[in-house]
Amino acid sequence: MTTPDDLRALARDRLAALGVVLPAPGAEDLTAPSALSAEPLGSLPATTELDGVLDGAREAFLAWREVPAPVRGHLVRRYGELLREHKSLLADLVTLETGKITSEARGEVQEMIDVCDYAVGLSRQLWGKTIASERPGHRLAETWHPLGVVGIISAFNFPVAVWAWNAAIALVCGDPVVWKPSEHASLSAMGAAALLQTAVTELGHPSAVSQVVLGDARTGEALVDDPRVALISATGSVRMGRAVGPRVAARFGRSLLELGGNNAAVVTPSAPLELAIRGVVFAAAGTAGQRCTTLRRLIVHRSLVDEVGRRLVRAYRSLPIGDPFASSTLVGPLLNAASGTAFEAAVAQAVAEGGTVLTGGRLVDVTGCGGTFAEPTVIAMPGQTPIVHEETFAPILYLLAYDDFDEAIELNNAVVQGLSASVFTRDQAEAERFVSAAGADTGIANVNIGTSGAEIGGAFGGEKATGGGRESGSDSWHAYMRQATNTINYSDALPLAQGVSFG
Ligand code: NAD
Repeated sequence: MTTPDDLRALARDRLAALGVVLPAPGAEDLTAPSALSAEPLGSLPATTELDGVLDGAREAFLAWREVPAPVRGHLVRRYGELLREHKSLLADLVTLETGKITSEARGEVQEMIDVCDYAVGLSRQLWGKTIASERPGHRLAETWHPLGVVGIISAFNFPVAVWAWNAAIALVCGDPVVWKPSEHASLSAMGAAALLQTAVTELGHPSAVSQVVLGDARTGEALVDDPRVALISATGSVRMGRAVGPRVAARFGRSLLELGGNNAAVVTPSAPLELAIRGVVFAAAGTAGQRCTTLRRLIVHRSLVDEVGRRLVRAYRSLPIGDPFASSTLVGPLLNAASGTAFEAAVAQAVAEGGTVLTGGRLVDVTGCGGTFAEPTVIAMPGQTPIVHEETFAPILYLLAYDDFDEAIELNNAVVQGLSASVFTRDQAEAERFVSAAGADTGIANVNIGTSGAEIGGAFGGEKATGGGRESGSDSWHAYMRQATNTINYSDALPLAQGVSFG
């Protein structure tokens, strides 16, 4: 039996090993909750007074923007090395706070390492364009420059990786970062940030290139409203994005929004079924259904719907639910009791709307382990009733039938969110149609893999109520820089564009 004291001792040990100096409690105390216990891991000072932090960040920006980008990349490279050395320590904090199973928590830290590697390469590739000028003796070019302070607001379910996606890219782009982590994951945040601070100190850079401010939505709001923050990169619920987007726009700041998803997969008659079931189970039940890319709607050809239902029930019943630190566990706890209540309410609503629970549907006790555990659940639905349109952050998969492929695409696109979608098919025409302009309207559209588990090399993000932001790989770095168009006249004449003559 693991007691709350054991959990607190584990947290203290990991924090010390990561070099975290715990701040003295402040006026506004913030508890550090754990998904594994009703008792908190500790308490921390929260702040909504960001003047000193943001002045420091602004000052750091003036110096950091002039450090050559490849030298900025050295900092991120060192951070990646430190993450490699401390991977399991940081992962343990993630498990303690969020309940993520060890393998996935380590995967989260690996994602941080991957994005560091990516950002180091990027630090030598922040290129612009040279464009043919219509005027003789002129050169037309586009150049990219550091933007300013980047405020990062992150969600509980990827408590450190999403920050690293932002921080690694922002830092090589020449922008200091100020991080408001989830109030459910302050300790993981402090661990991740302490390692970066170690690299900053070793390389002699200003400490204010990376700062953390702890607190809840009120701390987030203080960051959102401050004109010293050039870009707010906010990850969380659609509700949060609806509040943050207009506030940043009102001061003409930039925002990058990564919000909720309601992701679907289509299983067609030609689908490789064994592979599809494996992909579906990981995407729907992995992380206890608490990923933004979690599969929530499975749209199956009517001829296969019973068969797919039977296979899913068999697979779901074999999923070990339990202590997230145990290597045999595949489904850990939900974040907290409120998540359990939301799970039960969604199941009840689905049944009231005509759904049939094929497997799961209940909260369960796990011997020797605190926390709220939900059975991975499959519910056959008569159609896209109101509950199917909602993102319930729990392992509930709604099973829906379709008759023709266009209808499947329509069902896929019928929700307000637009993050991730998949099709399982061996029919090339269907696969191509699904990822075409007339196909899935999501930021991520996959073929023969599930909706979750993206690699860092591609741009990550979604459309519609998911917010439209893009993070991580590809050319997402443009969001962290300002673009300038330069016209350079190296002639002795002054021809005007469009042939205009003026005197
Ligand atoms: P949440 O919206 O409750 O909180 C997210 C963060 O926003 C927290 O740090 C919170 O303190 C802050 N916040 C909340 N209201 C705010 C406000 N008005 N102003 C400023 N900051 C505010 O989300 P959560 O429960 O932590 O995370 C789950 C949600 O995040 C799900 O909807 C999930 O789909 C989404 N998510 C999206 C992505 C993505 O990349 N699209 C990734 C991870 C999670």
